[in-house]
Amino acid sequence: MTARSTAARAADVHALPAMLTALRLPSFHRHWTTLAQCADTEGWPAARFLAALAEVELAERETRRIQRHLAQSCLPGGKTLATFDFKALPSVPRARIEALAAGDWIETGANLIAIGNSGAGKTHLLCAIGHALVEAGRRVFYTRTTDLVQRLQAARRDLVLEAALAKLDRFDLIILDDIGYAQKDQAETSVLFELIARRYETRSLAIAANQPFSAWDRIFPDKAVTVAAIDRLVHHATILEMNIDSYRRRAAADRTTVKIGSPATTTDSLADNQHQSGSDNFANTSAGQTKEDTTT
Ligand code: ADP
Ligand code: MG
Repeated sequence: MTARSTAARAADVHALPAMLTALRLPSFHRHWTTLAQCADTEGWPAARFLAALAEVELAERETRRIQRHLAQSCLPGGKTLATFDFKALPSVPRARIEALAAGDWIETGANLIAIGNSGAGKTHLLCAIGHALVEAGRRVFYTRTTDLVQRLQAARRDLVLEAALAKLDRFDLIILDDIGYAQKDQAETSVLFELIARRYETRSLAIAANQPFSAWDRIFPDKAVTVAAIDRLVHHATILEMNIDSYRRRAAADRTTVKIGSPATTTDSLADNQHQSGSDNFANTSAGQTKEDTTT
């Protein structure tokens, strides 16, 4: 059947919903009657009607794609730049965070490493940047390092590690949260190292760590592997030093300042006091050659 012969006879308008479904054009389906009414009342040429429908389809397709990618990213809800208090992190200028959220560094497979004590806002910041990147059309995957390491270990046991790593290649950025909580046995070290080595200079990693690089040999028990991993990670990296007081504790302290006379005994402040005890001696933030922030 040619387009001309279809035009010669009356096209079957009743079959339109089924045809649009078959063509996978859900936004055409949803909006064509409204736009057709506009076209009829305002006397649009057929080309304008068709272009309007195509625009709506493309715009909604993009929205659906971002929603799908957000769901696949496993990013926690609510940790976005909109809810991030930039003033609470004076060591990192707002413009710098916004530049990271714009995502040029992703193009070259560079890395982002946030190091600082518990409650400093590392998870929130990395997730907020991840969120912005997804909205800009990038693929991002957030995971606690221990969860990913367990998955990769299981894949190796099942002899499908290569396929599991290849699946992760589709993400422009993987956010590895709390790398310091990864266990130190030899098997884990090697899957984590394999991930780092595989993505080196091609795909980005964003890493949150409570410990300075000097303590990373507790993550990678073998000194040589530790050095090799850090070397690859920091070669092209932005390193954010976030050794500041816990946000929750500061927020709790602010609340108690307002409520003059009431003691600072929220569960948050108690939890942070406990966290803090392990990270008070956070003197040596990064290994010698990576001490200052380096964006390359
Ligand atoms: P970390 O990962 O460094 O331990 P989190 O990112 O989990 O810290 O932050 C602890 C809590 O404080 C979270 O609820 C987080 O949303 C909040 N928080 C931390 N920093 C900020 C900030 N600058 N603006 C808004 N909320 C923050
Ligand atoms: Mg965290």
